[in-house]
Amino acid sequence: MIRCQACGTENPDTAAYCSKCARKLDPATQQAVAELRATHTATGIRWSAVILTLILLVLIIVLVALFALHVL
Ligand SMILES: [Zn+2]
Repeated sequence: MIRCQACGTENPDTAAYCSKCARKLDPATQQAVAELRATHTATGIRWSAVILTLILLVLIIVLVALFALHVL
């Protein structure tokens, strides 16, 4: 599907012009937007992994600190 930049109407991949507002559709721009979105999604997944790792690290540090306090 190609989304019209002007009105947001979804058009078939084969369409050269928007079926609603007749604006020229640019598949190259559509592809760039899709790639940009994919990159953003991938970055989002990586960030959540980093946050999870940090939470795990903090938990380990807290556990080690508690254990050390008990021993000392
Ligand atoms: Zn349109």
